[in-house]
Amino acid sequence: MPSLNDVLAEKIALLAKKGQQRRLVSTSRSDAMQIIRGDTPLISFADNDYFGLSQHPEVIAAAVEATKKYGAGAGASRLVSGNHPLYEELEKKLATAKGTESALVFGSGYLANLGVIPALMNSNDLILADKFAHACMIDAGHICGANFMRFAHNNMEHLRLLLATHREQHQNCLILTETVFSMDGDRAPMAELIEIAREFDCWLMSDDAHGLGVIQQPDKAEIQMGTLSKSLGSYGGYVAGSKMLIDYLQTTARSLIYSTALPPATIASATKALSILEADEELREAPFAYATYFTQLLGIEPAQSAIVPVILGDNDKALAASDMLKEHGYYVAAIRPPTVPENTARLRFTFSATHHKEDIEKVAELLLTKGYVTA
Ligand SMILES: *Cc1c(COP(=O)(O)O)cnc(C)c1O
Repeated sequence: MPSLNDVLAEKIALLAKKGQQRRLVSTSRSDAMQIIRGDTPLISFADNDYFGLSQHPEVIAAAVEATKKYGAGAGASRLVSGNHPLYEELEKKLATAKGTESALVFGSGYLANLGVIPALMNSNDLILADKFAHACMIDAGHICGANFMRFAHNNMEHLRLLLATHREQHQNCLILTETVFSMDGDRAPMAELIEIAREFDCWLMSDDAHGLGVIQQPDKAEIQMGTLSKSLGSYGGYVAGSKMLIDYLQTTARSLIYSTALPPATIASATKALSILEADEELREAPFAYATYFTQLLGIEPAQSAIVPVILGDNDKALAASDMLKEHGYYVAAIRPPTVPENTARLRFTFSATHHKEDIEKVAELLLTKGYVTA
């Protein structure tokens, strides 16, 4: 039998050949979008810290205070002895923010999806996920044993067709979508999804990882999941819904039961961040306004969120554009297949309230003058 390292060397060589080998680059952050990547200081358009709250002095103070008072770690899972009183305030605030009866905080957004979906669905059931739904919804859909299908991205006709063909043969049905899609920045047609869910007797679950605070979402799914690690600059995930849903998940979501509770500092900083966000309308409007300004400058389709893809098609072109911007002091991720479909390699910009207008203008000018985007 070949050794583990021999097998892995072969696999890595194959990935490298396809240009799919990735490396961790040590990157530190000193304020919301100033990063030091390797040895290079850069202004980042690649963070999901939409309001710079990970670096907010009051948020940091809340984390420090909680650590000093309660220690660095939770010591146990929530159902055993890790359910710190700090959770109660955060969950109440999350439920209010989402307009639901209750909310439940998980160890991360990934763990929330991995816990919620298998707690609700089994092999008698059907799951229909948007083609562009996040990897953790896809993973959760697979591990629960339900019949798992994907509908073309935001294509309600395709969703209806799949439901008309397959709904009847299954007991329960769950539709999965994102409010704001993480790689394209576009939004799901929530009102229509709610209508379809009603019509075909399905439950609807939305992943609001990139929506919280950034966009107003009047049409809400019955099950709303999200993360504390993006807009709130902290860490952890949550699900919001009816009291019955939360009561049920507390005793059935395996990723909640078998994983240690969050550190007190993390809970306290998320709570503080949410308070700051709720109190400051100007702050909430900034990321989307910057994204809109950027798309206007480039003459591309108007932004629908704080995420703007500049699709370049070719992998090498996307890498070259990212390198060019790096030379000018800007960090923008080049996103390539398999993260996105073939021939849609892109620069993925995320805008934060902490960006400066001049940098946004400079980046747009560079993309235009170097011929990556033609106005
Ligand atoms: C980031 C992200 C997650 C995972 O959240 P974490 O808290 O980082 O684990 C889930 N869904 C979407 C759409 C995301 O972008």
